[in-house]
Amino acid sequence: MDKIIMKTPLVEMDGDEMTRIIWKMIKDILLLPYIDLKTEYYDLGLEYRNETNDQVTIDSAEATKKYGVAVKCATITPNAARMTEYNLKEMWKSPNGTIRALLDGTVFRSPILVKGITPYIPTWTKPICIARHAYGDVYKNTEMIVEKGSKAELCVTNADGNESRDLIFDFKNSDGIIQGMHNLDSSISSFARACFNYALDQKLDLWFATKDTISKKYDHTFKDIFAEIFENEYKEKFEEAGIEYFYTLIDDAVARVIRSNGGYIWACKNYDGDVMSDMIATAFGSLAMMTSVLVSPDGIYEYEAAHGTVQRHYYKHLKGEETSTNSVATLFAWTGALRKRGELDETPELCDFADKLEKATIDTIESGIMTGDLYLLSTLENKTKVNTEDFLKAVNEKLKELL
Ligand code: NAP
Ligand code: MG
Repeated sequence: MDKIIMKTPLVEMDGDEMTRIIWKMIKDILLLPYIDLKTEYYDLGLEYRNETNDQVTIDSAEATKKYGVAVKCATITPNAARMTEYNLKEMWKSPNGTIRALLDGTVFRSPILVKGITPYIPTWTKPICIARHAYGDVYKNTEMIVEKGSKAELCVTNADGNESRDLIFDFKNSDGIIQGMHNLDSSISSFARACFNYALDQKLDLWFATKDTISKKYDHTFKDIFAEIFENEYKEKFEEAGIEYFYTLIDDAVARVIRSNGGYIWACKNYDGDVMSDMIATAFGSLAMMTSVLVSPDGIYEYEAAHGTVQRHYYKHLKGEETSTNSVATLFAWTGALRKRGELDETPELCDFADKLEKATIDTIESGIMTGDLYLLSTLENKTKVNTEDFLKAVNEKLKELL
Protein backbone atom coordinates (compact mmCIF):
# COMPACT_ATOMS: atom_id res chain seq x y z
CA MET A 1 0.00 0.00 0.00
CA ASP A 2 1.26 3.49 -0.89
CA LYS A 3 1.53 5.97 1.92
CA ILE A 4 -1.17 8.64 2.10
CA ILE A 5 0.14 11.98 0.92
CA MET A 6 -0.52 15.14 2.93
CA LYS A 7 -0.77 18.40 0.98
CA THR A 8 -0.30 20.77 3.92
CA PRO A 9 1.49 20.23 7.24
CA LEU A 10 -0.18 19.96 10.61
CA VAL A 11 1.26 21.76 13.59
CA GLU A 12 2.57 19.13 15.99
CA MET A 13 3.03 20.18 19.63
CA ASP A 14 4.95 17.57 21.59
CA GLY A 15 4.61 17.44 25.38
CA ASP A 16 5.66 15.84 28.65
CA GLU A 17 6.01 12.67 30.71
CA MET A 18 3.89 9.58 29.91
CA THR A 19 1.95 11.32 27.16
CA ARG A 20 5.26 12.17 25.44
CA ILE A 21 6.11 8.44 25.45
CA ILE A 22 2.65 7.60 24.07
CA TRP A 23 3.00 10.34 21.45
CA LYS A 24 6.03 8.68 19.90
CA MET A 25 4.46 5.21 20.06
CA ILE A 26 1.33 6.41 18.25
CA LYS A 27 3.42 7.94 15.49
CA ASP A 28 5.73 4.94 15.13
CA ILE A 29 3.08 2.21 15.29
CA LEU A 30 -0.03 3.76 13.76
CA LEU A 31 0.81 6.82 11.67
CA LEU A 32 4.24 6.71 10.04
CA PRO A 33 3.72 3.28 8.39
CA TYR A 34 0.60 4.58 6.60
CA ILE A 35 0.97 8.34 6.11
CA ASP A 36 3.67 10.46 4.58
CA LEU A 37 3.28 12.55 7.70
CA LYS A 38 3.95 16.26 7.22
CA THR A 39 4.15 18.22 10.44
CA GLU A 40 5.69 21.42 11.63
CA TYR A 41 7.13 20.23 14.93
CA TYR A 42 7.22 22.28 18.15
CA ASP A 43 8.61 20.78 21.31
CA LEU A 44 6.41 22.02 24.17
CA GLY A 45 8.12 19.67 26.61
CA LEU A 46 8.92 21.63 29.76
CA GLU A 47 12.69 21.47 29.26
CA TYR A 48 12.53 23.16 25.88
CA ARG A 49 9.91 25.68 27.03
CA ASN A 50 12.35 26.65 29.78
CA GLU A 51 15.27 26.81 27.37
CA THR A 52 13.37 29.14 25.00
CA ASN A 53 11.78 31.22 27.79
CA ASP A 54 8.44 29.80 26.62
CA GLN A 55 8.86 31.38 23.16
CA VAL A 56 8.25 27.93 21.61
CA THR A 57 4.66 27.97 22.95
CA ILE A 58 3.98 31.34 21.31
CA ASP A 59 5.62 30.16 18.07
CA SER A 60 3.48 27.03 18.01
CA ALA A 61 0.30 29.10 18.42
CA GLU A 62 1.38 31.43 15.60
CA ALA A 63 2.07 28.41 13.38
CA THR A 64 -1.42 27.11 14.21
CA LYS A 65 -2.89 30.39 12.95
CA LYS A 66 -0.90 29.93 9.76
CA TYR A 67 -1.78 26.29 9.05
CA GLY A 68 -5.24 26.13 10.65
CA VAL A 69 -4.86 22.72 12.34
CA ALA A 70 -2.74 21.55 15.28
CA VAL A 71 -2.45 18.47 17.47
CA LYS A 72 -1.11 18.86 21.00
CA CYS A 73 0.31 16.43 23.53
CA ALA A 74 -0.43 17.02 27.23
CA THR A 75 2.06 19.34 28.91
CA ILE A 76 3.11 20.10 32.45
CA THR A 77 1.79 23.31 33.95
CA PRO A 78 4.63 24.23 36.31
CA ASN A 79 4.03 24.55 40.05
CA ALA A 80 6.48 24.86 42.96
CA ALA A 81 7.45 21.17 42.80
CA ARG A 82 8.18 21.38 39.06
CA MET A 83 10.39 24.45 39.64
CA THR A 84 12.86 22.25 41.51
CA GLU A 85 12.29 19.07 39.49
CA TYR A 86 13.12 20.82 36.18
CA ASN A 87 15.32 23.59 37.58
CA LEU A 88 13.12 26.23 35.90
CA LYS A 89 14.08 29.85 35.33
CA GLU A 90 10.47 30.92 35.91
CA MET A 91 7.12 29.36 36.72
CA TRP A 92 6.01 29.36 33.06
CA LYS A 93 2.32 29.78 32.39
CA SER A 94 0.07 26.94 31.26
CA PRO A 95 0.71 26.36 27.52
CA ASN A 96 -3.00 25.69 27.06
CA GLY A 97 -3.82 29.08 28.55
CA THR A 98 -1.25 30.83 26.35
CA ILE A 99 -2.43 29.11 23.17
CA ARG A 100 -6.10 29.67 24.01
CA ALA A 101 -5.49 33.39 24.56
CA LEU A 102 -3.53 33.77 21.29
CA LEU A 103 -6.19 31.94 19.26
CA ASP A 104 -9.13 33.49 21.18
CA GLY A 105 -10.40 29.92 21.28
CA THR A 106 -13.14 27.92 22.98
CA VAL A 107 -12.52 24.40 24.29
CA PHE A 108 -14.98 21.61 23.38
CA ARG A 109 -14.70 18.32 25.28
CA SER A 110 -16.43 15.11 24.19
CA PRO A 111 -16.33 11.58 25.60
CA ILE A 112 -15.54 8.56 23.41
CA LEU A 113 -18.20 5.90 23.99
CA VAL A 114 -17.46 2.17 23.84
CA LYS A 115 -19.56 -0.92 24.54
CA GLY A 116 -18.83 -2.33 27.99
CA ILE A 117 -18.38 1.04 29.63
CA THR A 118 -21.81 2.29 30.53
CA PRO A 119 -22.26 5.91 31.59
CA TYR A 120 -23.62 6.42 35.12
CA ILE A 121 -26.68 7.84 33.33
CA PRO A 122 -27.55 4.80 31.20
CA THR A 123 -29.79 6.80 28.83
CA TRP A 124 -26.75 8.75 27.61
CA THR A 125 -26.19 6.72 24.46
CA LYS A 126 -24.56 9.56 22.52
CA PRO A 127 -21.76 11.90 23.63
CA ILE A 128 -22.48 15.21 25.32
CA CYS A 129 -19.95 17.77 24.17
CA ILE A 130 -19.27 20.61 26.62
CA ALA A 131 -18.03 24.04 25.53
CA ARG A 132 -16.71 26.26 28.30
CA HIS A 133 -16.39 30.00 27.93
CA ALA A 134 -12.90 30.43 29.35
CA TYR A 135 -12.85 34.17 30.01
CA GLY A 136 -13.87 36.36 32.93
CA ASP A 137 -16.67 36.04 35.51
CA VAL A 138 -15.55 34.68 38.86
CA TYR A 139 -12.14 33.65 37.40
CA LYS A 140 -11.11 37.30 36.97
CA ASN A 141 -12.99 38.78 39.91
CA THR A 142 -12.17 41.25 42.66
CA GLU A 143 -13.31 40.32 46.14
CA MET A 144 -13.37 42.12 49.45
CA ILE A 145 -14.15 41.25 53.04
CA VAL A 146 -16.45 43.98 54.33
CA GLU A 147 -16.69 45.13 57.94
CA LYS A 148 -19.98 45.73 59.70
CA GLY A 149 -21.02 49.37 59.36
CA SER A 150 -19.66 49.69 55.78
CA LYS A 151 -21.62 50.47 52.64
CA ALA A 152 -20.61 48.80 49.37
CA GLU A 153 -21.33 50.36 45.98
CA LEU A 154 -20.57 49.56 42.35
CA CYS A 155 -18.92 52.58 40.74
CA VAL A 156 -18.06 52.95 37.05
CA THR A 157 -16.17 55.97 35.69
CA ASN A 158 -16.78 56.44 31.99
CA ALA A 159 -14.36 57.88 29.42
CA ASP A 160 -15.56 61.44 30.15
CA GLY A 161 -14.92 61.02 33.86
CA ASN A 162 -18.59 60.76 34.84
CA GLU A 163 -19.42 58.28 37.58
CA SER A 164 -22.43 56.02 37.85
CA ARG A 165 -23.06 54.33 41.18
CA ASP A 166 -25.32 51.62 42.46
CA LEU A 167 -25.68 50.29 45.98
CA ILE A 168 -24.58 46.69 46.43
CA PHE A 169 -25.40 46.42 50.12
CA ASP A 170 -25.45 48.40 53.31
CA PHE A 171 -23.62 46.22 55.86
CA LYS A 172 -25.31 47.84 58.88
CA ASN A 173 -25.73 44.78 61.02
CA SER A 174 -23.02 42.31 60.04
CA ASP A 175 -19.59 41.80 58.53
CA GLY A 176 -19.81 40.37 55.01
CA ILE A 177 -18.28 39.81 51.61
CA ILE A 178 -18.55 41.31 48.13
CA GLN A 179 -17.37 40.34 44.69
CA GLY A 180 -16.93 42.26 41.43
CA MET A 181 -16.97 40.41 38.11
CA HIS A 182 -16.82 41.41 34.48
CA ASN A 183 -17.02 40.05 30.98
CA LEU A 184 -16.52 41.54 27.53
CA ASP A 185 -18.99 41.69 24.64
CA SER A 186 -16.06 40.86 22.35
CA SER A 187 -15.22 37.70 24.29
CA ILE A 188 -18.84 36.56 24.53
CA SER A 189 -19.22 37.11 20.77
CA SER A 190 -16.10 35.04 20.01
CA PHE A 191 -17.43 32.30 22.27
CA ALA A 192 -20.81 32.37 20.53
CA ARG A 193 -19.26 32.19 17.05
CA ALA A 194 -16.92 29.34 18.05
CA CYS A 195 -19.95 27.42 19.36
CA PHE A 196 -22.13 28.04 16.30
CA ASN A 197 -19.24 27.12 13.97
CA TYR A 198 -18.44 23.94 15.85
CA ALA A 199 -22.12 22.91 15.90
CA LEU A 200 -22.17 23.27 12.09
CA ASP A 201 -18.85 21.43 11.80
CA GLN A 202 -20.15 18.52 13.88
CA LYS A 203 -23.78 18.71 12.67
CA LEU A 204 -24.98 18.76 16.27
CA ASP A 205 -27.62 20.86 18.05
CA LEU A 206 -26.28 23.62 20.28
CA TRP A 207 -27.69 24.28 23.76
CA PHE A 208 -26.89 27.38 25.79
CA ALA A 209 -28.12 28.40 29.22
CA THR A 210 -27.66 31.19 31.75
CA LYS A 211 -29.61 32.56 34.72
CA ASP A 212 -30.99 35.56 32.85
CA THR A 213 -34.20 35.74 34.93
CA ILE A 214 -32.17 36.57 38.04
CA SER A 215 -29.22 38.35 36.41
CA LYS A 216 -31.15 40.73 34.18
CA LYS A 217 -28.14 42.63 32.84
CA TYR A 218 -25.10 40.34 33.26
CA ASP A 219 -26.45 36.95 32.20
CA HIS A 220 -29.05 38.56 29.97
CA THR A 221 -26.23 40.07 27.90
CA PHE A 222 -24.89 36.57 27.20
CA LYS A 223 -28.36 35.47 26.10
CA ASP A 224 -28.83 38.56 23.89
CA ILE A 225 -25.41 38.32 22.20
CA PHE A 226 -25.96 34.66 21.37
CA ALA A 227 -29.46 35.38 20.04
CA GLU A 228 -28.33 38.29 17.90
CA ILE A 229 -25.36 36.47 16.35
CA PHE A 230 -27.54 33.44 15.70
CA GLU A 231 -30.27 35.49 13.98
CA ASN A 232 -27.86 37.48 11.83
CA GLU A 233 -25.19 34.96 10.92
CA TYR A 234 -26.20 31.36 11.57
CA LYS A 235 -29.96 30.85 11.44
CA GLU A 236 -30.06 29.87 7.77
CA LYS A 237 -26.93 27.73 7.96
CA PHE A 238 -28.45 25.84 10.89
CA GLU A 239 -31.68 25.27 8.95
CA GLU A 240 -29.72 23.96 5.97
CA ALA A 241 -27.73 21.64 8.23
CA GLY A 242 -30.91 20.46 9.98
CA ILE A 243 -29.67 21.42 13.44
CA GLU A 244 -31.09 23.65 16.18
CA TYR A 245 -29.96 26.36 18.56
CA PHE A 246 -31.77 25.95 21.87
CA TYR A 247 -31.63 28.45 24.74
CA THR A 248 -33.02 27.83 28.22
CA LEU A 249 -32.36 28.61 31.89
CA ILE A 250 -29.36 26.85 33.44
CA ASP A 251 -31.41 24.84 35.96
CA ASP A 252 -33.81 23.73 33.23
CA ALA A 253 -30.79 22.81 31.08
CA VAL A 254 -29.33 20.61 33.83
CA ALA A 255 -32.65 18.78 34.22
CA ARG A 256 -32.95 18.26 30.47
CA VAL A 257 -29.34 17.06 30.15
CA ILE A 258 -29.95 14.35 32.73
CA ARG A 259 -33.11 13.19 30.92
CA SER A 260 -31.53 13.37 27.44
CA ASN A 261 -29.87 10.74 25.25
CA GLY A 262 -26.91 13.02 24.53
CA GLY A 263 -25.83 13.94 21.03
CA TYR A 264 -25.54 17.75 21.30
CA ILE A 265 -23.13 20.52 22.25
CA TRP A 266 -23.76 22.23 25.58
CA ALA A 267 -22.29 25.73 25.71
CA CYS A 268 -21.64 26.88 29.27
CA LYS A 269 -20.60 30.09 30.96
CA ASN A 270 -17.18 29.85 32.60
CA TYR A 271 -18.20 28.57 36.05
CA ASP A 272 -20.97 26.29 34.73
CA GLY A 273 -18.47 24.78 32.28
CA ASP A 274 -15.87 24.22 34.98
CA VAL A 275 -18.34 22.32 37.15
CA MET A 276 -20.39 20.57 34.48
CA SER A 277 -17.40 19.34 32.47
CA ASP A 278 -16.17 17.40 35.50
CA MET A 279 -19.66 16.01 36.07
CA ILE A 280 -20.00 14.94 32.42
CA ALA A 281 -16.49 13.43 32.30
CA THR A 282 -17.06 11.39 35.45
CA ALA A 283 -20.53 10.29 34.40
CA PHE A 284 -19.25 9.02 31.05
CA GLY A 285 -16.71 6.87 32.85
CA SER A 286 -13.13 7.91 32.31
CA LEU A 287 -11.04 11.04 31.86
CA ALA A 288 -8.74 8.98 29.65
CA MET A 289 -11.58 8.69 27.10
CA MET A 290 -12.25 12.43 26.89
CA THR A 291 -11.12 14.37 23.84
CA SER A 292 -10.74 18.09 23.64
CA VAL A 293 -10.55 20.58 20.77
CA LEU A 294 -9.84 24.29 20.87
CA VAL A 295 -11.80 26.14 18.17
CA SER A 296 -11.17 29.78 17.30
CA PRO A 297 -14.01 32.05 16.10
CA ASP A 298 -12.40 32.08 12.64
CA GLY A 299 -12.25 28.30 12.38
CA ILE A 300 -8.78 27.23 13.56
CA TYR A 301 -8.66 23.83 15.30
CA GLU A 302 -6.25 22.49 17.91
CA TYR A 303 -6.87 18.91 19.08
CA GLU A 304 -5.71 17.25 22.30
CA ALA A 305 -6.61 14.81 25.05
CA ALA A 306 -8.45 16.28 28.04
CA HIS A 307 -6.24 14.50 30.57
CA GLY A 308 -2.79 15.52 31.78
CA THR A 309 0.65 13.96 31.42
CA VAL A 310 -0.19 10.94 33.65
CA GLN A 311 2.79 11.61 35.90
CA ARG A 312 2.38 8.59 38.17
CA HIS A 313 2.58 6.18 35.23
CA TYR A 314 5.64 8.03 33.89
CA TYR A 315 7.57 7.52 37.11
CA LYS A 316 6.77 3.80 36.91
CA HIS A 317 7.97 3.81 33.30
CA LEU A 318 11.22 5.54 34.33
CA LYS A 319 11.81 2.81 36.93
CA GLY A 320 11.50 0.25 34.13
CA GLU A 321 8.14 -1.01 35.36
CA GLU A 322 5.40 -1.96 32.91
CA THR A 323 2.65 0.63 32.36
CA SER A 324 -0.88 0.27 31.09
CA THR A 325 -1.69 3.85 30.15
CA ASN A 326 -4.69 4.65 27.99
CA SER A 327 -3.67 6.27 24.72
CA VAL A 328 -7.17 6.61 23.24
CA ALA A 329 -7.76 10.34 23.86
CA THR A 330 -4.30 11.20 22.50
CA LEU A 331 -4.90 8.94 19.51
CA PHE A 332 -8.25 10.63 18.84
CA ALA A 333 -6.51 14.01 19.01
CA TRP A 334 -4.37 12.81 16.10
CA THR A 335 -7.33 11.42 14.14
CA GLY A 336 -9.30 14.63 14.73
CA ALA A 337 -6.44 16.73 13.40
CA LEU A 338 -5.78 14.43 10.42
CA ARG A 339 -9.48 14.41 9.48
CA LYS A 340 -9.68 18.21 9.70
CA ARG A 341 -6.49 18.51 7.61
CA GLY A 342 -8.05 16.15 5.07
CA GLU A 343 -11.27 18.19 4.94
CA LEU A 344 -9.43 21.48 4.45
CA ASP A 345 -7.03 20.08 1.85
CA GLU A 346 -9.69 17.96 0.12
CA THR A 347 -7.74 14.76 0.61
CA PRO A 348 -10.51 12.24 1.40
CA GLU A 349 -7.93 9.43 1.84
CA LEU A 350 -6.73 11.20 4.96
CA CYS A 351 -10.27 11.54 6.36
CA ASP A 352 -10.94 7.91 5.55
CA PHE A 353 -7.76 6.83 7.33
CA ALA A 354 -8.76 8.84 10.41
CA ASP A 355 -12.22 7.20 10.44
CA LYS A 356 -10.71 3.72 10.14
CA LEU A 357 -8.14 4.33 12.85
CA GLU A 358 -10.89 5.45 15.22
CA LYS A 359 -12.97 2.43 14.33
CA ALA A 360 -10.00 0.11 14.85
CA THR A 361 -9.45 1.65 18.30
CA ILE A 362 -13.07 1.22 19.39
CA ASP A 363 -13.24 -2.29 17.89
CA THR A 364 -10.13 -3.27 19.84
CA ILE A 365 -11.65 -2.20 23.15
CA GLU A 366 -15.01 -3.76 22.30
CA SER A 367 -13.22 -7.02 21.43
CA GLY A 368 -11.98 -7.04 25.04
CA ILE A 369 -8.42 -5.75 24.68
CA MET A 370 -7.91 -2.67 26.85
CA THR A 371 -5.63 -0.78 29.23
CA GLY A 372 -5.90 -1.08 33.01
CA ASP A 373 -8.12 1.96 33.58
CA LEU A 374 -10.82 0.57 31.26
CA TYR A 375 -10.32 -3.00 32.48
CA LEU A 376 -11.50 -1.84 35.92
CA LEU A 377 -14.66 -0.27 34.43
CA SER A 378 -15.61 -2.61 31.60
CA THR A 379 -18.56 -4.96 32.01
CA LEU A 380 -17.44 -7.16 29.07
CA GLU A 381 -17.18 -10.83 30.06
CA ASN A 382 -14.00 -11.62 28.19
CA LYS A 383 -11.52 -8.87 28.74
CA THR A 384 -7.75 -8.70 28.81
CA LYS A 385 -5.58 -6.00 30.31
CA VAL A 386 -2.61 -5.11 28.11
CA ASN A 387 0.34 -2.74 28.49
CA THR A 388 0.65 0.66 26.86
CA GLU A 389 2.48 -0.52 23.76
CA ASP A 390 0.59 -3.79 23.25
CA PHE A 391 -2.69 -1.89 23.15
CA LEU A 392 -1.45 0.20 20.21
CA LYS A 393 -0.12 -2.93 18.49
CA ALA A 394 -3.55 -4.56 18.89
CA VAL A 395 -5.16 -1.46 17.33
CA ASN A 396 -2.70 -1.79 14.45
CA GLU A 397 -3.82 -5.38 13.82
CA LYS A 398 -7.47 -4.21 13.58
CA LEU A 399 -6.45 -1.29 11.42
CA LYS A 400 -4.71 -3.60 8.92
CA GLU A 401 -8.01 -5.53 8.57
CA LEU A 402 -9.89 -2.32 7.79
CA LEU A 403 -7.43 -0.78 5.31
P1 NAP B 1 -3.55 13.44 34.81
O1 NAP B 1 -2.29 13.41 34.07
O2 NAP B 1 -4.79 13.65 34.01
O3 NAP B 1 -3.68 12.10 35.64
C1 NAP B 1 -4.46 11.94 36.80
C2 NAP B 1 -4.78 10.47 37.01
O4 NAP B 1 -5.85 10.10 36.15
C3 NAP B 1 -3.64 9.54 36.66
O5 NAP B 1 -2.74 9.41 37.71
C4 NAP B 1 -4.38 8.27 36.30
O6 NAP B 1 -4.87 7.61 37.45
C5 NAP B 1 -5.61 8.83 35.58
N1 NAP B 1 -5.36 9.01 34.13
C6 NAP B 1 -5.35 10.18 33.44
N2 NAP B 1 -5.11 9.96 32.16
C7 NAP B 1 -4.94 8.63 32.02
C8 NAP B 1 -4.64 7.79 30.92
N3 NAP B 1 -4.46 8.29 29.70
N4 NAP B 1 -4.53 6.45 31.14
C9 NAP B 1 -4.70 5.93 32.35
N5 NAP B 1 -4.99 6.68 33.44
C10 NAP B 1 -5.10 8.01 33.28
O7 NAP B 1 -3.53 14.61 35.90
P2 NAP B 1 -2.41 15.01 36.99
O8 NAP B 1 -1.64 13.81 37.42
O9 NAP B 1 -3.15 15.82 37.94
O10 NAP B 1 -1.45 15.97 36.21
C11 NAP B 1 -0.19 15.58 35.68
C12 NAP B 1 0.36 16.74 34.90
O11 NAP B 1 -0.47 17.01 33.78
C13 NAP B 1 0.46 18.03 35.67
O12 NAP B 1 1.77 18.55 35.58
C14 NAP B 1 -0.52 18.97 35.01
O13 NAP B 1 -0.03 20.28 34.96
C15 NAP B 1 -0.64 18.40 33.63
N6 NAP B 1 -1.94 18.62 32.94
C16 NAP B 1 -1.89 18.95 31.63
C17 NAP B 1 -3.06 19.09 30.91
C18 NAP B 1 -2.95 19.46 29.46
O14 NAP B 1 -1.87 19.62 28.93
N7 NAP B 1 -4.05 19.57 28.77
C19 NAP B 1 -4.29 18.86 31.51
C20 NAP B 1 -4.32 18.48 32.85
C21 NAP B 1 -3.12 18.35 33.57
P3 NAP B 1 -4.05 6.45 38.21
O15 NAP B 1 -2.76 7.09 38.64
O16 NAP B 1 -4.97 6.13 39.33
O17 NAP B 1 -3.84 5.32 37.26
MG1 MG C 1 -13.33 21.77 36.93
